[in-house]
Amino acid sequence: MEQKRRERLTDIELTDNALAILKKRYLKKNERGEAIEEPIDMFRRVASNIAEGELCFKEGEEGRRLYEEWSEKFLQLMLDRRFMPNSPTLMNAGRELQQLSACFVLPVEDSIDGIYDTLKHQAIIHKSGGGTGFAFSRLRPKNDIVKSTMGVSSGPVSFMSIYDASTDKIKQGGTRRGANMGILRVDHPDIEEFIECKRDNEKINNFNISVAITDEFMEAVDGDDDFGLVNPRNGEVVRTVRARDLFRKIVEGAWLNGEPGVIFIDRINATNPTPQFPIESTNPCSEAHLPPYDSCNLGSINLERFVRTSSGERASLADGNTAGSTHVDWEDLREAVHTAVRFLDNVIEMNNYPLPEIEQMSKGNRRIGLGVMGFADALIKLGITYDSEEGLAFAERVMKFIDDEAWEASRKLAEERGVFANYEGSLHEARGDRVRNATVTTIAPTGTISIIAGCSGGIEPLFAVAFMRRQADMELPDVNPEFVRLAKERGFYSEELMQKVAEHGSVREIPEVPEDVRRVWVTSHDITPEWHVRMQAAFQKYTSMGISKTINLPNEATPEDVGEAYMLAYKTGCKGIAVYRDGSREAQVLSTGKTE
Ligand code: ADP
Repeated sequence: MEQKRRERLTDIELTDNALAILKKRYLKKNERGEAIEEPIDMFRRVASNIAEGELCFKEGEEGRRLYEEWSEKFLQLMLDRRFMPNSPTLMNAGRELQQLSACFVLPVEDSIDGIYDTLKHQAIIHKSGGGTGFAFSRLRPKNDIVKSTMGVSSGPVSFMSIYDASTDKIKQGGTRRGANMGILRVDHPDIEEFIECKRDNEKINNFNISVAITDEFMEAVDGDDDFGLVNPRNGEVVRTVRARDLFRKIVEGAWLNGEPGVIFIDRINATNPTPQFPIESTNPCSEAHLPPYDSCNLGSINLERFVRTSSGERASLADGNTAGSTHVDWEDLREAVHTAVRFLDNVIEMNNYPLPEIEQMSKGNRRIGLGVMGFADALIKLGITYDSEEGLAFAERVMKFIDDEAWEASRKLAEERGVFANYEGSLHEARGDRVRNATVTTIAPTGTISIIAGCSGGIEPLFAVAFMRRQADMELPDVNPEFVRLAKERGFYSEELMQKVAEHGSVREIPEVPEDVRRVWVTSHDITPEWHVRMQAAFQKYTSMGISKTINLPNEATPEDVGEAYMLAYKTGCKGIAVYRDGSREAQVLSTGKTE
């Protein structure tokens, strides 16, 4: 009832930043590098190309009708910024490349043939704009024998550095530089070298690294036991270490510069919907848990677009501080989720896969990853504090709703188009749940698409309410425009105050700002690591694959604090964790005034 008839959009509202990014990297260009399409053309190109997927299932007039209908629905969803597919889909759909996926995982076999076949495949994927993840766990350790040559192996870290060097050389389709994830199991004999391989900032910088932690290891840490490191070539225990010492090394690395992260590999496999294909790695930002040769198409719902005022209008950030005056339009959200799932299922059909093995695995599992962005904005509009029980409850409610509806949409698609090819042997078959997709939800960082949509990224809190920007040799405050509006409406605006807010980055400790505003306008630096982890855990409960989230720590945090965050992530059911201690990497992308 509450849903207002939506007018048909013919263009999209974009911020200056969004426009700049689209022009630089997304819009079609001529040989001289000049954009030859407008943003609206790009969205039309994407909508109609993905709607062509309908023709793969229905021919003739009915196919035509479905194509028209969905082409328009996909277009409206994107123009309204309620949903964005991942970057490769925006860039490549309806163009020669037609490579639509953000994430791939490749196997690394313990042989020269295997290692170098995968190196070539990595280059092919990077050229097409995808990110790659690898587990090096099956490689024999450094100095282990190589029978055919009577030589010795150089080990996982040295091969990883070859993959890293190759990444440098491949400029991706003129659009993105390659991104990789490197994984090593915690029981691999080279684990210590791996943990330290990125200490020197110049090394292996095209990789994020994560340790695949087993339940056995966590138990050994808990019981302060010894832990065996095993040669994967023959299963022999090479040596034992004290589990707590190894855990300490992981944590110290993460404290020093954010690496390595960890993934809880047994937990990931326990919920792997296709256990016939075990998982050993993730994609670069670690949200997609994929077996070798699988890929995943991501897309994100922009939650802030679904918050309404009592009169049914779209709420602004300034509306959230009048208690109870805003609400979520659940019906609208339901419709968006169903449309987005159909969109992503069509992407699997329309995708041009970089390798035949990837095509087979991706079509076999039909993994899709619908996630969210604009979560922090939605909370502000609803007047809910991020780091509060109410914030966690809202996270669970909204993600459960999206996950339930996404499964419902996948069930309907299964009736129309059949279950995924690898359904037999899947956890879905065991439950008798006939679905079209092995997975439906994943929460990506939304690094670029959140800028295009003009909202906060993924499920992260605001980075800052305001910050100091250096412009023309001057330090000027750049304050969130909605915050300025709110300050004026509520009568607490002054230039001095805005300057003060920008210098702090945060408003939580500024007494001139009214208490209810301070409560809601929270930033990542205001939030303790514990609340960051709890928020990730709240979303994980209702997400088929993983979650990309940064657990921010203040500069003065200790390695023990990092260890506690890792332990809490394990205890609360997270599938992995990545931390970042403020100021721990020299070239920080964003910084609040305080740290400059
Ligand atoms: P976007 O907002 O551009 O769609 P995200 O920041 O959500 O992308 O990242 C989603 C996934 O896309 C990452 O986990 C990774 O697999 C892949 N990805 C991101 N950046 C790159 C890059 N520069 N090169 C290759 N892949 C990338």
